[in-house]
Amino acid sequence: MHHYLKLKLALISLMAIVLMAGCSEEKQGSSETKEEKLQVVTTYSILYDIVKNVGGDRVEIHSLAPVGSNPHEYDPLPVDIQKATDADVIFYNGLNLEAGNSWFEKMLETAGKASEDAPVYRMSEGVEAKHLTTKGKEEEEDPHAWLDIRNGIKYAENARDGLIEVDPEHAAVYEENAKVYIKQLQELHEQAVADFNKVPEEKRFIVTSEGAFKYFSAAYNFQAGYIWEINSENQGTPEQVTKIVELIKAKKPSTLFVETSIDPRSMEMVSSETGVPIGGTLYTDSLGKPGEDGDTYIKMMKSNIKVILENL
Ligand SMILES: [Zn+2]
Repeated sequence: MHHYLKLKLALISLMAIVLMAGCSEEKQGSSETKEEKLQVVTTYSILYDIVKNVGGDRVEIHSLAPVGSNPHEYDPLPVDIQKATDADVIFYNGLNLEAGNSWFEKMLETAGKASEDAPVYRMSEGVEAKHLTTKGKEEEEDPHAWLDIRNGIKYAENARDGLIEVDPEHAAVYEENAKVYIKQLQELHEQAVADFNKVPEEKRFIVTSEGAFKYFSAAYNFQAGYIWEINSENQGTPEQVTKIVELIKAKKPSTLFVETSIDPRSMEMVSSETGVPIGGTLYTDSLGKPGEDGDTYIKMMKSNIKVILENL
């Protein structure tokens, strides 16, 4: 009898250990869930990098239009739609950027994120929009706000606010990351103003394929010429080429620029017609490939500033 009781007690305590182990395993499981990264989707590489800087280790980001491609027009792949469906938060540029064939709007519909209260945030919120100047398009916004670094700061603030709204538990992390990043952007902007101020007024004229430099020109006191005003319309038509060739002959810039995300052939034609050489490559709608010069927003802006200064 005595032995039987001992055995019974031993069994009970064994069961208790098993139960406790079960409990603690469950506990561990739920804390792992808590540490899971926030699933983020951005529409193109520049937003990817800004959100990455603000989100840090807390976020896992899938970017839609790949590095080197044109985010004005994009055909989402099945994996993009899956990521958008699963995303805790989606960031896009707005200002008429992701507008070609309404690709982004359609993708949100498919991913079940088209409703008013879906966690979809516009990075350009609060930016003062500039508009196209091409006849008949004056109502359309120009999307390239990020080429003014002060707007890049707004983008970072909007990323911070969006992340805090969907993940308030980690607000302090996002606040701190944003603070550090915005300080870097502020310094870069001030440096750009100081560097460009050394360039004589009459030399501050840049020619690119796409007219992506409206916000940039206003911020850093430049004038800009282009072959076509915005991607996703007719690019490099004979009329457009004639117009820019005339402007180049009148303004006599010493160099022309091409962009990493745009086929250079139109500009090569303009160069051979005017005799003005292509002096450098600028980043506009995409970062550089990982490991390249402009593989972050800060590095792409630094590279642009350097290439422009060296070639004017
Ligand atoms: Zn563009």
